[in-house]
Amino acid sequence: IVPLNSAILLFRLGDFYEMFNDDAKIASKILGITLTARNKSETNPVPLCGVPFHSVEPYIAKLLDNGFKVAICEQVEDPKQAQGVVDRKVVKLLTPGVILDTEQLKGNKNNYVACVSVCNAKYGLSYVDISTGDFRTCMVESTDDLKNELCDIEPREILLSDDQSYDPSFLNFIKNTLSVLITKINSYQFDLEISDNVLRDYLKVNTLQAFNLENNPESVISSGVLIHYLNKTQMDEIPPLKPPLFYSRLNYLQIDDSTKANLELTQTIKGGDKSGTLLSVIDETLTAMGGRLLRQWLGYPLKNAYEINIRLERVGLLKDNRNFRNNLRASLREISDIERLISRICTSSCKPRDLGSLRNSLVFIKDIKQTLSVSEYGTFRDTCNEIDELRDIFILLEESIVDEPPNSTRILPIIRNGYNHELDDLRAITNDTKKLIAGLEADEKSKTGINFLKVGYNKVFGYYIEVTKPNIHLVPENYIRKQTLTNAERYITPELKEFEEKIYGAEDMIIELEERLFEEIRLEVADEADRVRKTSSLISELDVLCSFSEIAERYNYTKPEVNSSTSIKLLESRHPVVERMDLEDRFVPNDIILDNDENQLLLITGPNMAGKSTLIRQTALCVLLAHIGCFVPCREASIGLVDKIFTRVGAADNLSMGQSTFMVEMVETAYILRNATEKSLIILDEIGRGTSTFDGMSIAWSVAEYLHELGCKTMFATHYHELAQLESLFERIKNFNIYVKEVDDTIVFLRKMLPGAASHSYGIQVAKLAGIPENVLKKARKVLYNLEIIQSDINSSINTDQLKLFNEKDKPYKLDLIAEELISIDITSITPLDAINILSDLKDKLDKD
Ligand code: ADP
Repeated sequence: IVPLNSAILLFRLGDFYEMFNDDAKIASKILGITLTARNKSETNPVPLCGVPFHSVEPYIAKLLDNGFKVAICEQVEDPKQAQGVVDRKVVKLLTPGVILDTEQLKGNKNNYVACVSVCNAKYGLSYVDISTGDFRTCMVESTDDLKNELCDIEPREILLSDDQSYDPSFLNFIKNTLSVLITKINSYQFDLEISDNVLRDYLKVNTLQAFNLENNPESVISSGVLIHYLNKTQMDEIPPLKPPLFYSRLNYLQIDDSTKANLELTQTIKGGDKSGTLLSVIDETLTAMGGRLLRQWLGYPLKNAYEINIRLERVGLLKDNRNFRNNLRASLREISDIERLISRICTSSCKPRDLGSLRNSLVFIKDIKQTLSVSEYGTFRDTCNEIDELRDIFILLEESIVDEPPNSTRILPIIRNGYNHELDDLRAITNDTKKLIAGLEADEKSKTGINFLKVGYNKVFGYYIEVTKPNIHLVPENYIRKQTLTNAERYITPELKEFEEKIYGAEDMIIELEERLFEEIRLEVADEADRVRKTSSLISELDVLCSFSEIAERYNYTKPEVNSSTSIKLLESRHPVVERMDLEDRFVPNDIILDNDENQLLLITGPNMAGKSTLIRQTALCVLLAHIGCFVPCREASIGLVDKIFTRVGAADNLSMGQSTFMVEMVETAYILRNATEKSLIILDEIGRGTSTFDGMSIAWSVAEYLHELGCKTMFATHYHELAQLESLFERIKNFNIYVKEVDDTIVFLRKMLPGAASHSYGIQVAKLAGIPENVLKKARKVLYNLEIIQSDINSSINTDQLKLFNEKDKPYKLDLIAEELISIDITSITPLDAINILSDLKDKLDKD
């Protein structure tokens, strides 16, 4: 099933990996290496390029980064033993989603390969990070939910069936939104029976019941295809994965992909990866595993008050005990990515340095255990008891591996003196012989009387005795000439030859023995992978909790009371990201109260730039932070659990997907209206902005009414201050405005939210602050003045107030019809009498109401 033909083949020839034909043409461009040719003189020379085998990794990384797969073809027999052409075999297929090398991976991010199956109109989604052993799977009921899930896990590679059974909008999404390599798998593989067998085989079980997969055929299929793919690409050398975790999104607070983007949780709207995001301001983790876990907590916020409160409780204890926290953090800082190290240790790509890093980290894990053991808090003593400090592994590595092990098994030494007698003996032989050789120089000098004689060594010729040219006549007969230099001759003697052979013999045996011992130690450690992973997971959790408490103390966050009530109370709340920016003035905190009674829908008016978006986003962010167990940037907070957070913020074009600003706005709004429940929190910013004023205002009005009816807590920011009339019509809608002070012809932003609606849009004043030229502003004031006069004339002549206009159910509809009729009249083709009749008709229609 593995489409090897789409991979670049690296063919091992001696000390190089060579690429041929089209592979060579593509790779030489990407890698910036010279393109040459094999059989240059012949009519059809074969394009060729190559990279040294001992430093191949950065080249592979670059090819993978450019979206290519790389197949490695190795010599699988010793060239010295080979009769004829050396036997070779493709031993590994590297793909962007299947990478073990830590240098190619982002420390704080998982690197997933995912597989999506379609079965009974539902999707199975499975994904694996072979570098950490993470293996998760879920069943997803709609294309929207599938997209949301994929946005969370951001896979590097996705496996799809080649039978085109996917929803086109889904295919569009993965091509345009995700930066992911698509690998097509033969559709016959997407079969329940085949997958079930593959999976049971891999997990070595008779039934999948224990993994909750028995009744989830979609997940069985996607998992089976995925494992089969890994078996094929890794040639059956997959590091042991964690047992598949079957989960349901319904158990977590749900946040759809546009909400995630709008709230800038892990990426800014402009596409920046980290700074300016919520993740960036709460990430003070010190280990790579902790960084990844934090990202995961943020992607999967809890919905269970009990579990959230356990996290909050622990963050609180760490916050209040600075010394305790500092001690833990001092040790955390020294711990390497043991989760990824153990995965590599489980495969032949393990390097001696990996074992060294694991050993060095274990020292600090022991320190953490020690710090926890004397804690006065039961919860941390419990963690202490759970952490396996892996003493046996530490002792093994400490006794066997040198202090600074090399990055390749080709560089020695790897094994410490004293670990293995045979190795010690061989090393003694080489050392003793080297001493004998060193002594030989003095002996030969006195024997021959040549003062300008020295014993030396080089890689090509081995050991030699060098005599300067003027002394050659003194060289005795038993000296055998080996090499001639400009000023000297080099010789070998039978005695030196014997020493040399002894050294070479011993050195060959050392190389073999060190390699064998390293492999034995590696396998012994690999056997304990589960224990290492458990410790790693406890350490990463401590790291995230410490990070939360560090943030809480540094930036004055408070512990929220999280409960199952229906109200949200944030006193003196701040925006976690904006408050850290370089603001002209200090950040002004605001109180926010939302509930399912009279504060269900807060309608927030105020001019552009007043701070509406900031305020409504900070509400969503504080609520989200509480759900992941993090303290919140407020003086006091009590937060009733919510099931989903939705935001529709700002205007964003998605032209790459062929959608205009207004369309995006409406699609997102439609999604919210269809999916919100009375337990959801909805943040709406400027709904109806992307169309004409009356259209927009009407849509905004009816959306607000709909949400009021639905009963979900909503913050609705708008510059249509006309919507303020909603408050008097609906009991659970309340007006607020972000106060600005008018001073002469300009405005001062006070950033304070106060009850009541704003009376003006202050658009011209904001334009002035933005530097629009004075004559343009002057003209704008004049036009505005005229429009306001016309508006008030219309109002008085219609003799009906706006409130009535919007509230009476049929009237706007009728006005629309009348407008349509008016537009359809061709004035040039009617008589004055027709005109009077039409007018009378229209008037009749209105008078009936
Ligand atoms: P609006 O949505 O009303 O147009 P924004 O929320 O985008 O306004 O705010 C505009 C700018 O005002 C922000 O970029 C920020 O610099 C500043 N700002 C917003 N809220 C506050 C606040 N509470 N305290 C201080 N500065 C703020």
